[in-house]
Amino acid sequence: MNERKPVLNFFAVSIFPEMFKIFCSFGIFKKALEKKLIGFQAINLRDYTTDKHRTTDDYQYGGSHGMVMKVEPFFRFYDAFVEKYGEKPTVILPTPKGRLFNNELAMELSKKGNLIFFCGRYEGIDERISVLVDYEVSIGDYVLSGGELPAMVMMDAISRFVPGVVGDFRSVQEDSITMGLLDYPHYTRPEEFRGLRVPEVLLSGDHKRVELFRLKESIKLTALRRPDLFLKKDFTKQEKMAILEILRELLDGAQ
Ligand code: SAM
Repeated sequence: MNERKPVLNFFAVSIFPEMFKIFCSFGIFKKALEKKLIGFQAINLRDYTTDKHRTTDDYQYGGSHGMVMKVEPFFRFYDAFVEKYGEKPTVILPTPKGRLFNNELAMELSKKGNLIFFCGRYEGIDERISVLVDYEVSIGDYVLSGGELPAMVMMDAISRFVPGVVGDFRSVQEDSITMGLLDYPHYTRPEEFRGLRVPEVLLSGDHKRVELFRLKESIKLTALRRPDLFLKKDFTKQEKMAILEILRELLDGAQ
């Protein structure tokens, strides 16, 4: 029988490969691995060292505090990978100096076959790693102690764009940001909790009204919280109609 091969394989190269165990043991990512929609391997960088102490970092040239990760073990892993798979992978370097990660990049990366994350620690990896790197990516304007959490964040977001990973792909399409608008608010039972009621329209069973309500909420939230997204958005006719209705409601409320 032909075994299914994942369309997207993640590899994380790290001195703390154990960190990925929990990430792979829960939720959508775990199910996707079980269904072989995606693949994942945590690689111990120390397996690619050659000295007795399995050294992966050293003092930096020019002085200054903080250790730097040595470049040779990463190159050794890369060479072994190319030899084993016969093709060049796409290499991502998580770094606060990289381009900011977003949904567009997640979608783009979901179409690559083999994605490797080089996880830095200390002051980062020796600059010469850049020869192997396709994408330098930051997950936000703050500094973490290692590239493992950024790699997990990216793998989670990227895998959602692999067909079949999220049961109902509509929910991926409707997620915040994906359509250029923030997601509308969601409610579940009970209808009333401590005096807080679910908006009446959601109980009406009128799908058209529900759809319009959700669209208006998305538009309002985006305009208020993320004017940058709102100004960038190429609104559809339906969305423009919803904006008109929001304005009408505002005018009615003001009278
Ligand atoms: N000296 C580095 C700098 O200022 O750019 C920071 C190094 S940081 C302490 C160690 C590692 O954590 C980095 O090599 C990178 O892999 C990861 N890292 C930290 N913050 C990150 C972020 N915002 N996005 C992606 N990776 C990050």
